[in-house]
Order: sequence, then C-alpha cells, then structure tokens
Amino acid sequence: MQLRYRYRLYPTPGQRRALAQAFGNARVVFNDAVRARQDAHAAGEKFPTGTVLQKRLITDAKRTDERGWLGQCSNIVLQQAIRLHTGGFSVRPNGKLRLARIGDVKVAWSRDLPSAPSSVTVVKTADERYYCSFVVEVGDETLPAAVDQHGQDVELGLDLGLSAFAVDQHGRVLDNPRFLRRAERKLKRAQRELSRKKKGSNNRNKARRKLARQHVKVTDTRSDWLHKATTSIVRENQTIVLEDLAVSGLARTRLAKSVHDASWGTFRRLLDEKAHRYGRQLVVIDRWLPTSQTCSDCGRIDGPKPLDVRTWTCPCGATHDRDHNAAKNILAAGRAERQNACGPDVRPHTGADGDEAGSSGTPRGATAPHAA
Ligand SMILES: [Zn+2]
Repeated sequence: MQLRYRYRLYPTPGQRRALAQAFGNARVVFNDAVRARQDAHAAGEKFPTGTVLQKRLITDAKRTDERGWLGQCSNIVLQQAIRLHTGGFSVRPNGKLRLARIGDVKVAWSRDLPSAPSSVTVVKTADERYYCSFVVEVGDETLPAAVDQHGQDVELGLDLGLSAFAVDQHGRVLDNPRFLRRAERKLKRAQRELSRKKKGSNNRNKARRKLARQHVKVTDTRSDWLHKATTSIVRENQTIVLEDLAVSGLARTRLAKSVHDASWGTFRRLLDEKAHRYGRQLVVIDRWLPTSQTCSDCGRIDGPKPLDVRTWTCPCGATHDRDHNAAKNILAAGRAERQNACGPDVRPHTGADGDEAGSSGTPRGATAPHAA
C-alpha cells in the first residue's frame, strides 16, 4: 500500500523564488480547474475532461497573472503545492533533495523513508513553511490478532458524534483534546476579524495572514491527534465498525461543517489505511440504518430522536444514552454485514486501494473488509 512521508524543507532564498514561480503556475491552473467545474455545473454540463479542459486551462492561464490566491479560492485552500514524479526529483548522497528546475534543497529527515518514493509534493504553508511529502510503497505489517482472553476478536463500534468526537459500544468517549478546541476557537475568531476588515486595506491583509497561520495550526494539531487516535484504535482492535460518513449530513445542517467533515473524513481514511496495513478489518455500515432510533436491548425502532435528545427510554424499560446506544447498534450492524458479505469464514479482501493522494477508501456504504 502507499503511504505519505512528510519532512520539513529549508530552501535558500534563491530556491524560494524558483518555488514561488512554480507554485504560481500550479495555482493558476488549479484556480481555473475550480472555475471550469463551477461553470460547467452552472450550465448543467458534464465536467469537462481531458484535452478540452487542458486546452482551456492553458489558454486561460495566460490571462490570469494577477489573480490573488486567497481571494480567489475557498479559505480552506491555504497552501501552495507542486507535484513532481520520478525523474523530476531525487535524493542526493549528501541528503539533499534535488528538484527539477529548483536545485538541491535541504531536508530535515525526521524519520527514514522505508523505500524509494514514486512522487513528491512540495508544499508551502500559509505561514511560510516548506514541506516535501513523499509517496512510498510499503509492505503490510500484520500485527498479532487483537483477541480477548477467550480468543474472541476485540471489536469496536464507533458512533461519530457532535457532542463528542466518537463514542464506543462500552460508552467510552473519544474526544478532541482541549488544546485543539482552543485552537479552533481562535480560528473562528480570526475568521470573524477578517470578515469585519475593509476590502483592500492593510488591516485586512494582516487579518488574512493571521487567519492563515491559525488555520495551519489547527490543521497540524488536528492531524497529529487523529494520527495518534487511529493508531491506538487499530492496535487495540481486530474489527472496527463505523457508520458511513454521509451521516455527517447532521453536521452540515447546523454545526461547523468543514471542521467535522474534514476530521471525520481524515479519521476514516487513516483507519482504512492503518487497518489495511496492520491486518485489521474496517467495516463501514450503511448510513440509512436507524442506529440512533433502535433500542440496542430489544431491537425496537422507537422513532426519530431529535439531536437534543441525549437519553431516552424504550418501552421495554431500557434507558439509553443516545451515542452509546448508537455505537452498540453500529457494532451489531457491522457483525451482520460481515456475515452477509463473507459468510462465517471471513476471507481477506484487498480492495482497490492507495491512490497517491492517500485518499484510498471504499465506495460509500460498502464494507471494507481487510485481511483478518
Ligand atoms: Zn427496548
């Protein structure tokens, strides 16, 4: 499977200028790709592909020198990047990274690359730091099976929620750490400040840079936490069951949508990658199962529960915490789905996996059985 390895880069002033040029070219094309898609959508056309798009983008690119980066794009896109494939880069014997048309750039090798990379993406973050991100092929490193004292697979059902990040079938809560919540609050404040500044003013530029820095901080902190959380989940459990992420339609209706969607999407992707890598099984159940409405004791479907209903009592007498109950149902649905998909003899299954953006995943609503 393919993994990403990221390192800090320290380009010289000359190399920064060359990179700025390269980013500029990549950025124009990116902006135009976004716009071409929006235009096509507005006109009810299919998204233009292949040579048509290529031609249009290059023609457009010649007229777009003066475009602002942040002004033109969604404020989520706060970094610049170029990608080079084999031939466009190499690691020198002196440890520097040779990039085509840029030169030999100093790299902080914080950990070893496990094998020769197939591509590298050079990124400049909004707070002026540079990184290179390699895509490398690694072998699976199957861990010993996670079994309990009776030899049964350790299973985990997770309900991704709004009041907590996730709750499992034992009622244990996995939540964003306080320092991340604090950073997110600061980010929101920076967004508000920017929106109040006059267009074109110096203060607006200042506010924009501040917002960009805070955005990077939140992204880094969150990604660090998600990596740690998913690693320990995958180590401790043989089977992990999640609801399909489209459930976050919940979040879309009212709460900070991008934050939830981004976190859950990354969480799911990391679980998928790590489960694959370490020989665990990730099961994603159908989003339409009424996991919040079903009594996990008697199986009765008790009708919709608005989001503010945190606990409820089933006519059978069982009282449920909303998320805890949902996690139990998710686990049960995952077991059923495994049975249906594989029969009692669960076979390893290697899905199409690992595109180079690391956005490997299973189709929506499908099971993702990995080597058990
Ligand atoms: Zn009941």
